[in-house]
Amino acid sequence: MTFSEQADSLIQQLKSEGIEDNRVLDAILKTPRERFLPESLHPLAYENRALPIGNEQTISQPSIVAMMTESLQLRGNETVLEIGTGSGYQSAILAQLCGKVVTVERIKDLASSAKQLLTELGYENIEYHFGDGALGWEGQAPYSAIIVTASAAERPQKLVSQLEDGGRMVIPVGTDPVQILYRLKRCGERIKEEELCRCRFVPLITEETNNGRPQ
Ligand code: SAM
Repeated sequence: MTFSEQADSLIQQLKSEGIEDNRVLDAILKTPRERFLPESLHPLAYENRALPIGNEQTISQPSIVAMMTESLQLRGNETVLEIGTGSGYQSAILAQLCGKVVTVERIKDLASSAKQLLTELGYENIEYHFGDGALGWEGQAPYSAIIVTASAAERPQKLVSQLEDGGRMVIPVGTDPVQILYRLKRCGERIKEEELCRCRFVPLITEETNNGRPQ
């Protein structure tokens, strides 16, 4: 099967798992996931699974990428903060669905290779930063949407404070073996919280919320 046929069947699988937003499905269909993976993993690029990207990190499972993206309810003009650039795959999906993506990564090699690839692929609405994303990125705050692609021991308060009124954040919280994916919504001073599903992510490494985890 060609990559394009494999992408079509991945989309069918995502639909059968309940993904309904056609803009999200279309962005996934148009994004060449193999480009975000080492060549040896190209045959697995359209399988619905997380895969290694080096530096002990992973590209997330497509169904999780789809669910997290859908739950941000993007309409096209938002500025979205992404914590954990990783391979750049999730940034590419977001960039097709909002006005601007601000992405932060703590591993320099990943940050620079994602920037190089996304630039090569023609994305012009992504701002790249290297640093501790648990602190958010004050420069462009507040954000309409925040997506955290690594699991936090606690909800990072600096990130929560960078959500605009009505803004949504998706974040995995918890340490192994139980992590829960939450959607948080700011309503004035209140934060409403909704549990989406169980999940498994690499840890969000930060001095803020590390709670004694090895770095
Ligand atoms: N969104 C990525 C993609 O599409 O490939 C998946 C990222 S991977 C599951 C999680 C990423 O979060 C890793 O690249 C890891 O280095 C990064 N990360 C962990 N803690 C971080 C922090 N405090 N600030 C920024 N990035 C962090």
